[in-house]
Amino acid sequence: MNIRHKIKEKKLVKNLAKESIEHYFKLADSIFLKNPILANRYVTLARKVSMKSNVSIPKTLQKKFCKHCYKYLYPTKTARIRTLKGKLVIYCFNCKKFNRYRLK
Ligand SMILES: [Zn+2]
Repeated sequence: MNIRHKIKEKKLVKNLAKESIEHYFKLADSIFLKNPILANRYVTLARKVSMKSNVSIPKTLQKKFCKHCYKYLYPTKTARIRTLKGKLVIYCFNCKKFNRYRLK
């Protein structure tokens, strides 16, 4: 196998990983109200794909789970969202910790 081929393959794997991460979050979002445990499992799976493939989870999706306990964050159900001094503050009901994000 030549180098060019290898690079192409790597790109393909990364694209696939990104797609499945997005897919898992979509599933988690649609199933959460019926089955929150399953939604949390999808987050775990998405993180596993991310770690294995070395593809980071998109920033918009990073806000969908708690960075402390990795539980799926569903506004009003498992999380409270506030904006404070140009920052997005998400409070996790599960571990009672705050997740802070800078707003643009
Ligand atoms: Zn948490």
